[in-house]
Amino acid sequence: MKNLTIFCDFDGTITTQDNIIHIMKKFNPPEWESIKDNILAQNISIEEGVRKMFSLLPSSLKDEVISYVLKEAQIREGFGSFVVFTKKYNIQLYIVSGGIDFFVKPLLEPYGPFEDIYCNIADFSEDTIKIIFPFGCDETCPSQGCGCCKPSIMRNRLPKDATSIVIGDSITDLEAAKLADIVIARDFLVEKCEELRLPYEKYESFHDVITIIETRLGVKS
Ligand SMILES: [Zn+2]
Repeated sequence: MKNLTIFCDFDGTITTQDNIIHIMKKFNPPEWESIKDNILAQNISIEEGVRKMFSLLPSSLKDEVISYVLKEAQIREGFGSFVVFTKKYNIQLYIVSGGIDFFVKPLLEPYGPFEDIYCNIADFSEDTIKIIFPFGCDETCPSQGCGCCKPSIMRNRLPKDATSIVIGDSITDLEAAKLADIVIARDFLVEKCEELRLPYEKYESFHDVITIIETRLGVKS
């Protein structure tokens, strides 16, 4: 097993739900649902949609938003064991998330330290919440609006002789999944893999993920 490198999604994968949707449902700014529908219908890019949704919230809600999302978020079962597993076998783990730093980083902190977390950043210095996208699309990415562009990060980070694993749950993981040697999927990503006949392994907990990696790659041997 060579240079095993994992690219793991955050919302709906490490956490059981999508934290951005959670925040929007709770604070319910007018128009957020139509923006969400436009993202899903691919009328606007993920980057544009996320930027627009957060611009509906005043920065004065900062503390309330952060404490709400941290209180409500649940980490998927087995994640702690999974992190220990990757360290034990010297597997490179990248967290690649379309989520925002103010919830991604604190929620991961008890399991860290992590060298590599890729996510978007919130700026609360203006009237409304501004989202910054430090990991945008490279020239090769056809979508040019991913926000946090997972395939670009993979192209940039993956050593040539590495075996890559993508773990995810949603449409935002699909382009990365297409580049991966092994796809570990749940929920909507399973449907898309079926539709595109992309081989995948199915998981519900991170205990499943550990078993899949052990079995597929003979990590134990
Ligand atoms: Zn992209």
